[in-house]
Amino acid sequence: MILTILKNLISKPVTRRYPFKDIRLPVAGFRGKIIFQADRCKLCGACAKRCPAKALEVNRQARTYKYYPFNCIYCGLCVEGCPARALVQDAHYVTASFTKTSETFKVPAPKTPPPTLTPTSSLMRVESVTVNNNQLVSDDAKS
Ligand code: SF4
Ligand code: SF4
Repeated sequence: MILTILKNLISKPVTRRYPFKDIRLPVAGFRGKIIFQADRCKLCGACAKRCPAKALEVNRQARTYKYYPFNCIYCGLCVEGCPARALVQDAHYVTASFTKTSETFKVPAPKTPPPTLTPTSSLMRVESVTVNNNQLVSDDAKS
């Protein structure tokens, strides 16, 4: 008991000293609103599977991601479980609302790389040419 009293006397308060300190300012490690970065999402659905509050819906066919901030309990499990780091937790509260709104995001299709040329055509296979009567003749064609 005495030890606890002494420890509390010398340690910093765990609460904010309102009204001397503004309670609206975010603190380090605050688990606030989920921020979704659509361009990083792979639509794997791992976040929705982990969410205990059913606050997330992932639709692969429609390429949409839906977030219900008023269902969310701000546990952070979706952020921890996202392999693409497409989710971060903001340091702010969800603002009050008269209706339970949801947010729907469209996930952009992955960019397809430009087609690569493969040396299959006869034009690309020519390795050397010789000049014969002012005409270019492929050494491949001669053999
Ligand atoms: S923070 Fe928790 S409750 Fe909110 S969406 Fe993520 S997993 Fe679900
Ligand atoms: S946010 Fe992350 S975990 Fe959720 S579907 Fe997208 S890539 Fe998967």
